[in-house]
Amino acid sequence: MRTLQNYIAGEWQVPSVEVDTSVCNASTNEVLFSQKNSSESQVEQAISTASALYHSGEWGSLRDGEKADALDKFANALENRVDEIAEADSLCTGAILKFTRTVATICPAAFRAAATMLRQPKSDVPLAGPYGDILSERLPLGAAAIITPWNAPSGICAHKLASALAAGCPVIIKPSEWAPMSAQIIAEASEIAGLPSGLVQVIHGDGSIGAMLTSDDRIRAVSFTGGLQGGRAVAAACAQGIKPVQLELGGNNALVVLEDANLDAVADAVIAAMTTLNGQWCRALGRLIVAETVQEALLDKVRHRLANVVLGDSRDEESTMGPLVHKGHLAHVQSAIAAYQALGAELIQTTALPDLEGNFFPPTLIAGLQGEQALEEIFGPVATVHNFANEEEAIELANQTPFGLAAYVFGTEEKAWQVAKQIRAGVIKINDVTMLNLHALSPRPAWGLSGLGDEGVRETFEFFRGSRVIGVAARPEGAINE
Ligand code: NAD
Repeated sequence: MRTLQNYIAGEWQVPSVEVDTSVCNASTNEVLFSQKNSSESQVEQAISTASALYHSGEWGSLRDGEKADALDKFANALENRVDEIAEADSLCTGAILKFTRTVATICPAAFRAAATMLRQPKSDVPLAGPYGDILSERLPLGAAAIITPWNAPSGICAHKLASALAAGCPVIIKPSEWAPMSAQIIAEASEIAGLPSGLVQVIHGDGSIGAMLTSDDRIRAVSFTGGLQGGRAVAAACAQGIKPVQLELGGNNALVVLEDANLDAVADAVIAAMTTLNGQWCRALGRLIVAETVQEALLDKVRHRLANVVLGDSRDEESTMGPLVHKGHLAHVQSAIAAYQALGAELIQTTALPDLEGNFFPPTLIAGLQGEQALEEIFGPVATVHNFANEEEAIELANQTPFGLAAYVFGTEEKAWQVAKQIRAGVIKINDVTMLNLHALSPRPAWGLSGLGDEGVRETFEFFRGSRVIGVAARPEGAINE
């Protein structure tokens, strides 16, 4: 594994503050590398570089076609790094290689999508003012900070970075301290692609380093993906600086099973929604909400399928699920389960644990709780089961949490649509739980505590831009009107 290095002003440098924690291989708990924080002067150098580059206009004033060509070169460079990115993310996060490869291929695709969008013909019709056309333009907001979580680190970083660069913003990436390497590989690709020095920078460290970015007035836009606590801190810092913030936070996502659903398809979906990214997926199953008439039949099928999940080393091609990211997160999931048990919950766990030292936790369904006892996101392969007698109860259970990220409805299409249209969530998928978006260009919004500001190819690009309007308001006295 490469060593941890910042990429600041086109130079690689070791983050200089020692921290007494390490990133371990999630499957074995062998130490991979020591975590480090950037120093205040390293953060200062990154911010002043990004800010100076923004004010120079070297990148932001390029024509869209020129930016698109550079983003395509970036995508070319990234295509050669997909395997390295997948390997790094799998080692640090415990996600199985099959998933990290899929996520890693999203990285070059994100830059291609941004380049394609920049090349699309513009259809703006100028407003005619009393003294000539009024110019309305969208401009880069300034130096931008991107703060990413550990669960799907490369894909999230690439999407935000491609969007910000397309918008014309220099970017500082602060990856998660638990999965920092793929951002470093992405920065290496930017260097190979020949992007201007300082346009893409990476600074390593924990939340305190993220906080240095969000509280600095020279950072003019912040795109954050992470948990509610971090999101609230980032939002508060951005409120102080009156700067736009995009927040993609957690969820406690409902999967509603109507009486007429295909139960085999539902059971497959339940397994996928609990094991994708080892259950550490913002759109993972949180609440299984089942018509009471089919609950037992469904749970039998799920029990059987859970027994077939192959929990193992994240880089073993036979594994269908890997471990949790680190010991602290395993302890968090275990204590959340213990709290549910103390309330009288019954656990459904039929997956065998591997004989490995990693942070393994079997996918677990929890029965016997009231809906209001299971409102929080656990961010692990854990879902509570609730049943309903009629559609109103199903919708009430689906809308009961303060989150609103994703939801799933299974049933004949007409009924599933009816229910879906009453659920308060950003993206609702009918009859599948695929990790892929419904359409490459459809937005990924979030409601309630799940976030602020839609994500998407066009949406995230626009997040990094602001409007400016210029026009002649009145002719000076004596001017001749044509
Ligand atoms: P986290 O909030 O602990 O950390 C995310 C990032 O924020 C890290 O880089 C961290 O160092 C940084 N950070 C923490 N506190 C900060 C602060 N005060 N100021 C600035 N930066 C700070 O989240 P995590 O544990 O890495 O990720 C898991 C969470 O992310 C889950 O809640 C999950 O649902 C969410 N998530 C959401 C989406 C989405 O699209 N909505 C996608 C992936 C993950």
